[in-house]
Amino acid sequence: MLHPSHELRYINSTIGYGIFATEPIPKGTIVVFSDPLDIKILPKTYARLNEQFREVIESFSYIDREGQGVLSWDNSKYINHSCDSNILLTPYLFSVSIKEIAKNEQITTDYALLQAYLDIYQQGEMSFCHCDSPHCRKGLNIPNVEDYLPLFISSLNDALSLAMKVRQPLLDFMDTKDKYELIKVLENYHDCSKSMSDFLKKRRNNFSRKWSRFLS
Ligand SMILES: [Zn+2]
Repeated sequence: MLHPSHELRYINSTIGYGIFATEPIPKGTIVVFSDPLDIKILPKTYARLNEQFREVIESFSYIDREGQGVLSWDNSKYINHSCDSNILLTPYLFSVSIKEIAKNEQITTDYALLQAYLDIYQQGEMSFCHCDSPHCRKGLNIPNVEDYLPLFISSLNDALSLAMKVRQPLLDFMDTKDKYELIKVLENYHDCSKSMSDFLKKRRNNFSRKWSRFLS
């Protein structure tokens, strides 16, 4: 589920649609979280789809911690990539704003942390980046996301240390148990580097275990 202060806008024929903030969103805000209405993509379902349909799945879905494909039911699936994004995936099943996001600014994330399909399934096939960041990596694939982790971790630690100090409208949509567990993590905030490498390792292993016989 996506933060309520957003709208979907058409950008151009290369990029298609994007998500824009309709109000300022402070740094440290939960901008997206995986919710129970999201659609799970089973490997056997994916294996039965034709190439056109698979392209849609690869463009709009991501792989969760359990190695399962997930297609968001709401506008979250239209969040574009930027090599200088203003939100990032955390190891806690949500994405957080790592900068102040201004009204009318596009909300972008770094697909390097979500790119399991590109990374594992397409095995290095290049997908070009259209972001206009001066730090643009030109392609969405990073062979070893771990090489970029220190950069991501430092932004995440900085943003997460503010999470309990800013308004969090998405917390109201979380199950009580999930919400209190999350608040506990954020209140006693620690360095998330170990949680992030554990999360990436677990996702990669689960993905290989669940998908290998369908993708070979
Ligand atoms: Zn880029």
